[in-house]
Amino acid sequence: MKRIFLIICFLAALIVAIIQGIGLVLPDKVSVESFRENGFKNVMRTLGVIAAEPHPAASKRQELVRAYLIKEMNEMGYKVTEQKFHYTANDLGLKFVRDEQGNVEDEISTHSELSGTNLIAKLKVPSPKGTMLIISHYDSVRTAQGASDNGMAIASVLQLMRDLSQRTDIKNNVIFLFSDAEELGLLGVRHFVKNIDEITSQSIDLVLNFDARGNNGVPLLFETSEKNFALVSEWNRSAYKPVAFSFSPIVYQMLKNDTDFSVFLDMGFTGMNFATILGDEHYHRMSDTVENLNPGTLWRYQRTLRDLGIHFAIKEVTRFSRESVDAVYFPVPYIGLIIMPAFVAFSAGFLAFVLSISLAVKNIWFSHSSESVSKIQTILRIFSGLLSLAVALIVPTASYLITLPVLLFLFMDLMLREFNRFSLALILLIICIYITCIIYVPIVYLVVVGLHANIVGSVLALLLILFLGLVTASFWNRAD
Ligand SMILES: [Zn+2]
Repeated sequence: MKRIFLIICFLAALIVAIIQGIGLVLPDKVSVESFRENGFKNVMRTLGVIAAEPHPAASKRQELVRAYLIKEMNEMGYKVTEQKFHYTANDLGLKFVRDEQGNVEDEISTHSELSGTNLIAKLKVPSPKGTMLIISHYDSVRTAQGASDNGMAIASVLQLMRDLSQRTDIKNNVIFLFSDAEELGLLGVRHFVKNIDEITSQSIDLVLNFDARGNNGVPLLFETSEKNFALVSEWNRSAYKPVAFSFSPIVYQMLKNDTDFSVFLDMGFTGMNFATILGDEHYHRMSDTVENLNPGTLWRYQRTLRDLGIHFAIKEVTRFSRESVDAVYFPVPYIGLIIMPAFVAFSAGFLAFVLSISLAVKNIWFSHSSESVSKIQTILRIFSGLLSLAVALIVPTASYLITLPVLLFLFMDLMLREFNRFSLALILLIICIYITCIIYVPIVYLVVVGLHANIVGSVLALLLILFLGLVTASFWNRAD
């Protein structure tokens, strides 16, 4: 009887966690009211103009997009600076020439020198507390209409500018940069940072960059500056269903991609970088059209960007660069992000180590007092303890993936074997299954569907299945 109950509990926790876990990284359906909101209507209208055709740097079409953006900003009351820069085929380097899909070589041979134009607009307030910089590149690649990359961000930033221009509670100066030639090797922002002193006399306290690597899913905070505890916590306070994984910079570095944010990160600026990563089969392709862009993704993206922009425009932004604590974080349903300082994650790893090793030692020395604990279980305890300590020391930002399930498992094991509290142990088992799935399922989904890294995804899924199997098996004999 107990075993049937155990199976039902196991399956229920598993199914709920899988559905909710995948739901974390997929957008909601857009409600009719959302479609009627004026801001969202503006975003869709702007996107229709920007992403009507490919608009790569130095193209005729991009000139039209630029003129449109300037006109829109002027109508909102912003003065726009056109920051011109020149680049040659040499500046484009290998990255450009390697681009097989475009007729890039033709462009190089016909133009010995090309020019780009960053668009800069400022929102100035009397006695500002700090300065915030919001970046999105407005060039597409030659082979894409660029609805998601980067029309979605451009249209959202434009609407944020409209929102901010109507507010009276802004505390910081805000600089908006629509950068050019990002797709050719971040040329626009490289020029921008070289001339940053001419653009602003104040130091920039916070940099926010918005980009895309697919036309589906939700915007992820996939990269931040170091010592990010206060910054991520502040964003989490205001965000609608925030999604971020503290280990994602490690994955991003492996992908060897760059966005405009990389330039600012290298220079030690404080900031956050957002992008979508699902739907990358349309990334840099002619199918990156408005029609193919998931409306839910567009809605979530513009909402995230506008909420974030407004929230930080009215906050004290200078404090984030003085922060000294790194954060470990992951998303959970209904709550948003669970965020902890890195030392808490390390302490959890250390606790898991101490607890599992002491339990193992106790089993070895007093094996007669707990006969049900087999040798295999003792070995598993030692292994999980060592593993928890190792990940806490080597990759603290990813350590929660090991330490959290191990700690929950140990507490459950303690209740079951040492204290004989079956009901309490069963509750801990369900929590353990649910939480382990909630932290693994969205990652497996993103890795397989978003990054197409099937081997990594399979290893993670296998790890999850193995762990769930072990946890449940350790309960099995007690449940007869
Ligand atoms: Zn992009």
